[in-house]
Amino acid sequence: MAEAIENKLNRIFDSNSKIIIGMKTMTCKQLGGACNKKFTAETFDEIAKMSKEHGMEMFQQNDVPHLQAMEAMQALMQTPEAMKAWMDDKKAKFDLL
Ligand SMILES: [Zn+2]
Repeated sequence: MAEAIENKLNRIFDSNSKIIIGMKTMTCKQLGGACNKKFTAETFDEIAKMSKEHGMEMFQQNDVPHLQAMEAMQALMQTPEAMKAWMDDKKAKFDLL
């Protein structure tokens, strides 16, 4: 009896694990950065903040690949539409996870 309930619960947790846990992972690269560092967060805003903090850290360390990624970002920021499209793209990828 207890076993049957446990099996049922396991099935529910398995099929809804994403909803129950609610954590999503994206890499620095996927977020426009330069390395494979993983960020895990519940919301896109949170993950964007984590990647930004990491980017700033790498910037302070003069890490060349991150400096280049940041330059590309800054070029994007010159155009609000391009920046928004970029953000929407990243957010869409996050939502699909
Ligand atoms: Zn990185």
